[in-house]
Amino acid sequence: MNPLWINEVEARIRAAATNLDPQTTPDEVIMCKRCVVTNQRPRITFDDKGICSACRYAEDQATKVDWDQREHHLRMLLDSHRRDSGYDVIVPCSGGKDSSMVAHRLKHDYDMHPLCVTWAPFIYTEVGRANFDAFVQSGFDVVVAHPNGHIHRKLARLALEYYGDPFQPFVYGQLAWPMHCAVQYGIPLVMYGENGEAEYGGDTAANNKPCWDFKDWDRVYSKGRDVEALIGLGWDINALDNDDVRNVSPFYGLPLKHRLEGAEFHWFGYYHRWHPMENFYFAEQHTGFEVHDERSGGTYSKFASLDDKLDGLHYWFAFLKFGIGRCTSDAAQQVRAGDISRDDALALVERYDGEVPERHMDEVMEYLGMDAGHLCTIVDRFNNGNAVFFNNKFENDGRGIEIT
Ligand SMILES: [Zn+2]
Repeated sequence: MNPLWINEVEARIRAAATNLDPQTTPDEVIMCKRCVVTNQRPRITFDDKGICSACRYAEDQATKVDWDQREHHLRMLLDSHRRDSGYDVIVPCSGGKDSSMVAHRLKHDYDMHPLCVTWAPFIYTEVGRANFDAFVQSGFDVVVAHPNGHIHRKLARLALEYYGDPFQPFVYGQLAWPMHCAVQYGIPLVMYGENGEAEYGGDTAANNKPCWDFKDWDRVYSKGRDVEALIGLGWDINALDNDDVRNVSPFYGLPLKHRLEGAEFHWFGYYHRWHPMENFYFAEQHTGFEVHDERSGGTYSKFASLDDKLDGLHYWFAFLKFGIGRCTSDAAQQVRAGDISRDDALALVERYDGEVPERHMDEVMEYLGMDAGHLCTIVDRFNNGNAVFFNNKFENDGRGIEIT
């Protein structure tokens, strides 16, 4: 084990993090009558017919949106940024199916010159790295950011202890790094994939907009848990020293407001109807994307969110905290897209949701500087009773980690 800090700090973290406020969850769990998501998902809303906001959004996408007009708006937007030479659009891209599709279509269907930018995973999986390499080979320039690994590990561990999500430092950079590139390289247009809040159930304020205002960014994405807050927690407990704080990457947060002037980001999914399964077929055909040979832990799919060995823990903790596991999210999305029936989705959720992410667990524990015993105490702290919604598998999972 490669410890992150001295034993005294480790003991202090374990003690301090036990006094957190419990996660709030609804008294009565309601499942959407059309898909399989429940009201436990943060920020989702249900109408009086028992249909969730993501299903209503999908319905509008299918019946109300004038896609020809949106396509026209996209062409106008791109024309206003198009350059004869040099890059004219930034595409945040991991080599995954969705971002690869966006980059490829912008380049080949719209004759743009994308500069792709990647915020590296904590620990690349083999398949994630292979897909990234294949994407580069398919004909794109990519600038990759790897934040200071020592500090990144500490932030991931602190985020797990305090927020029940080791993934948070990745999310900071995934959102902010492309905007730094926009400013740094003088390419004001940034094209992200989909509006996740609208597509999967969340804040509906931008359902009919091509982007968030930057002023909404903190409210929606960091929820009072931005990188400064996390650094403050680490500083208070001596987990981060002077040197660490001085060296925290600026890429975790947005560029200063005045530097962002003129930069804009848009969702490609606003202009083209978003369908992850189609993105997969597209990327497979055009950018060398390959599925994993095994399904991802906690779900049935083999083609989504494959890059990072910490993915499994991230989704598992969402299940513990909210009762919404990876399979629920995948299956609900596929019901809305018309790929599978609700009955099939229910069966999949029953079978896979909340499965302990065994794959890569040893390596992930090493990365986070902790052992499985301590993981159990964190699981206990964040398991809000949601884990028993579909079954009781966490009482003694029987798959290597005993959680009591
Ligand atoms: Zn629904």
